[in-house]
Amino acid sequence: MSHPTLALPAADSSAPPRLSPLRGLDYSVVQQCMHCGLCLPTCPTYDATKIERHSPRGRIALMRAIADGRLEATRTFAEEMYFCLGCLACMTACPAGVNYAELFEHARAEAEASGALNSPKRSFIRWLTVRWLFMDLGRLRFLGRLIRLYQRLGLQKLLRQSGVLQALPRRLQELEAMTPVIQPKFSAEMIANVTPAVGPKRFRVALLTGCAQDLMFSDVNRDTAEVLARNGCEVVTPAKQNCCGSLHAHNGELEMARDLARKSIDQFPPEQFDAIISNAAGCGSHLKHYHHLLAEDPAYCARAELWDAKLKDINEWLVAIGFAPPKAGCGAQTVTYHEACHLCHGQKITAPPRRLLRAIPDLTLVELPESDWCCGSAGIYNVIQPVMANQLLERKLKNVVATHAPVIATANPGCLAHMANGLRRQKLTLRLVHPVTLLAEAYRAESQTKADRV
Ligand code: SF4
Ligand code: SF4
Repeated sequence: MSHPTLALPAADSSAPPRLSPLRGLDYSVVQQCMHCGLCLPTCPTYDATKIERHSPRGRIALMRAIADGRLEATRTFAEEMYFCLGCLACMTACPAGVNYAELFEHARAEAEASGALNSPKRSFIRWLTVRWLFMDLGRLRFLGRLIRLYQRLGLQKLLRQSGVLQALPRRLQELEAMTPVIQPKFSAEMIANVTPAVGPKRFRVALLTGCAQDLMFSDVNRDTAEVLARNGCEVVTPAKQNCCGSLHAHNGELEMARDLARKSIDQFPPEQFDAIISNAAGCGSHLKHYHHLLAEDPAYCARAELWDAKLKDINEWLVAIGFAPPKAGCGAQTVTYHEACHLCHGQKITAPPRRLLRAIPDLTLVELPESDWCCGSAGIYNVIQPVMANQLLERKLKNVVATHAPVIATANPGCLAHMANGLRRQKLTLRLVHPVTLLAEAYRAESQTKADRV
């Protein structure tokens, strides 16, 4: 049953009616919550504040009130939707199967449609990032090259050491401290358009290189291509790719997310591949729901369904095809594993990354307390909600330190970058790494051992 997509009662009766994303949502999704509260202890924002409005149940009640026409999308509502991490821990806990992911996306779209948070500064930043930079990755890479130059020429170090940054407003200082380290080469410079399978070809797969992932962790993309090839996959990795639209969907821009989903499907026709591989948990969680996003688009809806079926996280895919256990270790002795929210809650993938890690000789996996508790990265949450994000980061790193493991593995670029900032601030010298990188290193060590014997 669907509510008509209609105008909420406008405060100003002369204002043109606006579409309400929450009222347009299938009402069966809106009314699923039975208010049991079992999700409350798993919600990081409720845990921190103990305020019902900051809980999944409270947020869903607000969303339903708007869908029912009992409430306007006010500034308080919009702020509440941006205080939610979108970590989806509540979905894992919910016995009623509430689809919080869909509610969350529509609620943020509602917040944007209402304009309740609008200000010239916010509008400009959103235009620059969501609408301009991430709609064309050529622009993002150009920015990446500028930051890389700034870092390589030593300007960043100079500015940081000179104390000049102290003159900036505190918020700008915090943002500068979060500037990611840009890789010396992007994915297209390291991965061929087609990487042949090592040995007999078993599968033909596409590799998505991502947006931020390509700038900050192109080495993880290279490692992913290598590991796939090593396991009998021919890997198709076009140099020019689009953003998957996850950033847009999670920040209230559903139409842009749909445009980007169509572009992805056109670039990687799902009927031509055995699997489409993502190694970024946040993207993978979104990429697996193109069918939902394009359900009303007759030209794409069937292909989106096939796309969803073919979309695989790298950990999941390697386990599904029976990856070859490496015969040599990668040097890392003790590793702990942080579960990215969109891998464990969004995609329900918990065992495969642990299987990959445990398959590496001489590697001991130490379980991380609260491994599935959000680290505070949550897309751009650490930028827009720094206080809560840092609180969660400190909790995460405290747990990490308690394991005494010198290596933290996690399968999401956002978590890797956010935790790297935390380690730097706390002057901790732990290694942060994607599980697939450890596997790639073990395969390389195996090849080296073989070569040494010859
Ligand atoms: S997504 Fe995370 S922060 Fe948001 S309501 Fe659910 S558990 Fe809480
Ligand atoms: S979201 Fe699920 S767990 Fe939370 S109150 Fe509603 S029904 Fe209960």
